[in-house]
Amino acid sequence: MPRGKSILSNSENLLKSARLIVSVRATLQSDEISPCFGPMIRFTMFGIPVEIQPWFWVILALLGSNFGQNFGTSNDALTVALFVIAGGFSILVHELGHALVGRSFGARPFIVLHGFGGYAAFPGSFFSRWQSFLVTASGPGVQLLLGIVVIVLSKIMTDLSDAFRSFLTDLWMVSIFWALLNLIPVFPLDGGQMLAAAMGPQRRNLMLQISIGVAVIGAVALWSMGIGVMMPIFLLFFAWQNYQELRQSRW
Ligand SMILES: [Zn+2]
Repeated sequence: MPRGKSILSNSENLLKSARLIVSVRATLQSDEISPCFGPMIRFTMFGIPVEIQPWFWVILALLGSNFGQNFGTSNDALTVALFVIAGGFSILVHELGHALVGRSFGARPFIVLHGFGGYAAFPGSFFSRWQSFLVTASGPGVQLLLGIVVIVLSKIMTDLSDAFRSFLTDLWMVSIFWALLNLIPVFPLDGGQMLAAAMGPQRRNLMLQISIGVAVIGAVALWSMGIGVMMPIFLLFFAWQNYQELRQSRW
């Protein structure tokens, strides 16, 4: 298979997989730590408590094996393990982006990585509009930066082992796709939360209307492009959620 085509099908596949995580993740963002079954990993990074739930690894491994298959490479344990490490690292960087900027505004954040992604929480904190915008933008922002740096590094470094090159490819693809999908201006994705912060509470209803419009148009566009059904379903779910909030606010 020519390399260009191989990369394209790889990207499409990752896009399909990432859609599921990114969407479910957003719905869990405002939740407290969700119930968990099995051993958890807890550590502190830059002074920020991080909890990694077992399902985080399981889902990443499932995505990784699917990823390898579609990439036409071997679907062995190493390929999957490299994807899991790359994906886990990228998502952690995204959440650290939110958490570190939140902390710089006085919050005491913690991070949870769960079965469908992760979230940074800021218990008891209040951000101004522009602070909230920056805290939200920092997650996908730093993740995009990571993706670009890794692309440049993998171009510069020519003498790499296959395994390390595969790791770098996983890392930039997950980083770019995850960040871009999160930036879709549909509430409560990061892009939607940035829109909400930019427009302010007085234009909340207009924000919800925009969010519904983008979600519906996006769902129809993705559906007609035939790129799976999960993202259209999640976008429509968000549109419905936003519609419910809009309706309640009109009582
Ligand atoms: Zn985020």
